[in-house]
Amino acid sequence: MLADAMGKDAFFKNKSILVLDKDAKKTNDRTWCFWEKGEGQFDDIVLKKWNHIYFGGKAFSKRYAIAPYTYKMIRGIDFYTTYLEKIKNYTNITFKQETVEKIKHLPDSVIISTSRSEYTGKQIFNSIFDYKMAMHQNKYPVLQQHFLGWFVKTDKPIFDVDQATYMDFSIPQKGNTRFMYVLPFSKTEALVEYTLFSDEVLQKGEYQKAITDYLKDNLDCHTYSITDTEQGSIPMTCYDFREHHTENIRYIGTAGGWAKPSTGYTFMSTARKTPRLLKYIKTAKPLNGLNFRNRFWYYDLLFLDVLDKDNACGHYIFETLFENRDPQLIFKFLDEETSFKEDLNYILGCPKKPFLRALMNRLPYTSP
Ligand SMILES: Cc1cc2nc3c(=O)[nH]c(=O)nc-3n(C[C@H](O)[C@H](O)[C@H](O)COP(=O)(O)OP(=O)(O)OC[C@H]3O[C@@H](n4cnc5c(N)ncnc54)[C@H](O)[C@@H]3O)c2cc1C
Repeated sequence: MLADAMGKDAFFKNKSILVLDKDAKKTNDRTWCFWEKGEGQFDDIVLKKWNHIYFGGKAFSKRYAIAPYTYKMIRGIDFYTTYLEKIKNYTNITFKQETVEKIKHLPDSVIISTSRSEYTGKQIFNSIFDYKMAMHQNKYPVLQQHFLGWFVKTDKPIFDVDQATYMDFSIPQKGNTRFMYVLPFSKTEALVEYTLFSDEVLQKGEYQKAITDYLKDNLDCHTYSITDTEQGSIPMTCYDFREHHTENIRYIGTAGGWAKPSTGYTFMSTARKTPRLLKYIKTAKPLNGLNFRNRFWYYDLLFLDVLDKDNACGHYIFETLFENRDPQLIFKFLDEETSFKEDLNYILGCPKKPFLRALMNRLPYTSP
């Protein structure tokens, strides 16, 4: 997104831009979902849209119409193909498939050593993420949103084509926050993903067993084939990734702390931050000067503190929230677009005790 934004901006016309990736980006290694009001900038590559979401809890479950929002899905491969093609057409941008091995800071430039060559750049935007970046501290908990998903094809029509299962907590929690996420493409095809918000990943077999059980016990589905899989881990932390920036190196994407700490959603967060970063780059100020933090960082911090202290309470928080508030407010809040009055309304829809306890432990409030 950043390379494309630079490519189409006349400001960068005389700059020489190199995009390095160790991967050719020719496989569908992930799918991205996000919600959005009406039409959006990625609509040309959106594969599927849903007008309803389902929330499933132990004592409360509901199907919601989410207008004016729709829940949208993009396949990674469609994004990569489209954006690599755009990048190819910008004469000032070159894409090379090379692995970055070393980054050396000099006073006015940065030297990048790859498996094949060495490059000098005035500014570097680095999206190489490693959990180690956030693990050397204990001021902020580092949880993971980790998951394994199966693309299944069933014998019988069992899926509601216009409904994405946003979270289904009606499964064993085993002391964690565990839910199913179901994205149907047709009545017989869906991505079924077993997801946790916790600090340790599981053995592969445990994710697989949970999906098998869910298909059997919750969806009464006994015969199906697995056509593809996806798997991942997204950091959930309020750790300040700015510590890694320098005057001429800026970490971006997950490595820049752009994954929303309380949800793991990163795609739209990246789409929103990219134009702000671009505008900032044009000011020629040191790259570490831009701060994206706002009051939502603090809300996310309290949420992660609560989950870190009692990892089994996630289902109760989400169930209370969905019972008390509409998904439209929830989406708006998670998009960080609510007014302070709306923030309070959202917060009052959550269980009070654990959040008050977390707030007391984080006082005095330090501004983000
Ligand atoms: C399976 C999966 C599903 C997801 N689904 C959603 C979703 O539905 N909604 C959402 O909002 N977010 C989702 N996310 C989270 C997030 O949007 C993605 O992880 C997103 O791809 C993050 O973008 P990024 O640019 O930070 O990192 P990446 O897309 O991972 O890009 C980093 C790039 O760096 C390259 N690289 C790594 N090391 C080197 C090296 N040494 N040298 C050169 N290149 C290197 C990699 O090949 C990669 O292309 C998902 C993540 C995964 C893994």
